[in-house]
Amino acid sequence: MHLLVCGGAGYVGSHVARVLDARGHRVTVLDNLSTGHAEAVRWGRLVEADILDVDSLEAAFHGQRFDAVLHFCARSLVGESVSAPYDYYENNVVGTLNLLRVMRRHAVDRIVFSSTAAVFGNPVAALIDEDHPKAPINPYGASKLMVERMLADAAHAYGLRSVCLRYFNAAGASAEDGIGESHKPETHLIPNLLRALINPAAPLKVFGQDYPTPDGTCVRDYVHVLDLADAHVRALDHMDGAPGAHAFNLGNGTGFSVMQVIRAAERVTGLPVPFEPAPRRAGDPPVLVAASQRARDILGWSPVYTGIEDVLRTAWDWHRAPAF
Ligand code: UDP
Repeated sequence: MHLLVCGGAGYVGSHVARVLDARGHRVTVLDNLSTGHAEAVRWGRLVEADILDVDSLEAAFHGQRFDAVLHFCARSLVGESVSAPYDYYENNVVGTLNLLRVMRRHAVDRIVFSSTAAVFGNPVAALIDEDHPKAPINPYGASKLMVERMLADAAHAYGLRSVCLRYFNAAGASAEDGIGESHKPETHLIPNLLRALINPAAPLKVFGQDYPTPDGTCVRDYVHVLDLADAHVRALDHMDGAPGAHAFNLGNGTGFSVMQVIRAAERVTGLPVPFEPAPRRAGDPPVLVAASQRARDILGWSPVYTGIEDVLRTAWDWHRAPAF
C-alpha cells in the first residue's frame, strides 16, 4: 500500500513509518517540522505541509494515490493544553477536519487516528476499556475526543473507514534505527528522568506527592512505541474487512507510579536518579491503566515489551547518544 503518514517526523509517527517500511509498504511523510525532526524521516519521502494550510495539503495529495492515511499531527501536551486551549482545538480539531476534507476530495477513505487515554478523564474503573465513560479533564483529551466523534459521523455520512488507537503512555525508542523521543521542550517523564541521570545538576521534578495512589505519585501504563507501531499495521489490515469507525485502547495493562519508574530506571542504568518534589501539574489524572483485550482479540495485538525495564532499556540506549 502507499500510505501517507501525517506527522511522520515525530516520535510515534517515525516509528510507525519504520515498521510500515519493514512490512513492505510505501511511505510518504507529511509534516510541518514544527515539533518533528527531518532526521527522523528515514523511510519514504518528506513533504513539508501543514494541516492548517489547506493549499499545502491539497498539493501533497495532488497526483498521488494514497491507500490510507495515518494521522499523528497534533499538539499533545496536557499541561500546555490547559493554558493554551485554542491552539489545541485549532491544531487537533480544525487541522484534522481540513485533512479529512482533503482526503474526501481525493477519494481516500481510510484513516488510522492517533488518539489517547486522555479521552477518558478520571477513571471510574481500575482498568480502562473502550466502553469506559469518556469525560476528558483537559483540552488535549477533549480535542482528541472531538475527532473521534467526527470520524464516527464521517463513517455514517461518507463511508469513511477509521481506527482510533488510544495510546496510554508511549515510551521507549529504536536507537538502532536512529529514532527516539526528542521534544523541545521535553515534558515527558522518561526522557526527563534519563536526562536528569545524564545531567544531575538538573534533577527530575516529581509532579505531585499526594495523589490517591499507593506512594502518592501518578500511575501510568507505559507502552513501547514499536508495539504501538505494530498495532497501526494491524489496524490497516483490520479495515479491509471492517467498514465503519473503530477504537482500541493500547497499553500493557500494568500501572507504574512515577516513583516506581524512577526505581526501575535506577536498576536498568545502575545510576541514582536525582529528583525533587514539585507541585501537581494541571490536568493530570491520578491513574491511567489500559484494558487492551479488544486489541488483542480483534487485531491480534500482543506487545513485545511488556516490562517497564524493557521499555526503559531502549529509551536509555537512545538518550545516551540521541541522533537528533
Ligand atoms: N511527570 C513528572 N515529572 C516530569 C514529567 C512527568 O513527575 O518531569 C509525571 C506527570 O505528572 C505524570 C507522569 O509523570 O503523572 C507521566 O507524564 P508524561 O508527561 O510522561 O505523560 P502523560 O501522562 O502526561 O501523557
